[in-house]
Amino acid sequence: MTILSTDRKTNWYSLTRTGWQQFLSEIDHRSFRAQQVMKWIYHERVSNVESMSNLSKILRSKLASVTESTLPKLVHTSMSRDGTVKWIIETETGGAVESVLIPDGRRNTLCISSQLGCSLDCVFCATGKQGFAGNLSVSDIVGQVVIVTDWLRENPSCGELTNIVFMGMGEPLMNFEATMDACDIFMDDLAFGISKRRVTISTAGVVPRILDMCGRTEASLAVSLHAANDELRNYLVPLNKKYPIGMLLDSCREYLSSLSDRRIVTFEYTIIDDINDSDQVAKELASLLRDFRCKVNLIPFNPFPLSTFRRPTEDKISRFYKQLRDKGIMVTNRTTRGDDIDAACGQLVGNFEDKTRRRERYQSARPGVSCV
Ligand code: SAH
Repeated sequence: MTILSTDRKTNWYSLTRTGWQQFLSEIDHRSFRAQQVMKWIYHERVSNVESMSNLSKILRSKLASVTESTLPKLVHTSMSRDGTVKWIIETETGGAVESVLIPDGRRNTLCISSQLGCSLDCVFCATGKQGFAGNLSVSDIVGQVVIVTDWLRENPSCGELTNIVFMGMGEPLMNFEATMDACDIFMDDLAFGISKRRVTISTAGVVPRILDMCGRTEASLAVSLHAANDELRNYLVPLNKKYPIGMLLDSCREYLSSLSDRRIVTFEYTIIDDINDSDQVAKELASLLRDFRCKVNLIPFNPFPLSTFRRPTEDKISRFYKQLRDKGIMVTNRTTRGDDIDAACGQLVGNFEDKTRRRERYQSARPGVSCV
């Protein structure tokens, strides 16, 4: 398939290194120029081809006529008391998504979005309640990181970007090709050069796509588990009815075995009061994950306007934590960050026109409560 299009310009931020090589061949130029072009874009951060001084005039004028450097539009920046920063970004796809930077010691993790809303509708997630309006393009995904790294350059006291996680709005594996291409760009030394261990794809468990990741990427995998048996997980994550826990864990093992080095899967576990925080569930979870190369990341439930769930008390969370740890499971307790600016896990809503009517149904089920 050709990249060069007659009816639209190719966006700089949509192409991986192989994409640039193919594109340059299509416009009759040598593919090795891809390296030069990408360095200008990502390392030198030029905004027009005229500045790419080591390219011939002919190539520069060709690129000027067939490419564009459009970034998604930054609409709003908000800062939390705890240093978390949230950006609202208007995408080329239409509608706005949210990206969140979480500074933590020497680590600066950016949480990015992959879709406008989400089609999965996990019961405890605000994004799902907003409905769904489509996939982001590669340039919309990469653009979030470009906007934030440009911001960090202007605010050097905030440090450099060290980690990227697909834990914002959307299910990245339901936007598979764009997510894979974006990961390639994040990990490429000619672009962001972030190590494969520090780029994490978080999924609710789209099993066939986890299998497709084998050999296609080496990004880290996080799976939103939230339950230790199918009955509870079917309720919390409706996708489980299609891809139950056994199948999901098998696909994770397969992915781990496709990686060249010794890696682990992170299981995210949103802990919800009286739903999945009992001693019995902890026991069941520990036995499910015994012998699995993994870490469990406990995320205390973050409330949002339409939710009826509650966050467990600190005591309950630490009891659950200890039970897992005592049974030999590696476990971390994620501190809630950015909740004063609605930037915590599961609180991201963005702004877009819902195409599923799910938002309307939720709002009419709970009259008087606004979603956004
Ligand atoms: N669709 C992907 C990524 C987006 S959600 C996935 O399911 O993994 C990122 C993480 O936040 C997931 O683990 C999700 O389950 C969790 N999450 C969603 N809503 C939450 C809430 N209200 N409180 C705490 N965590 C939540």
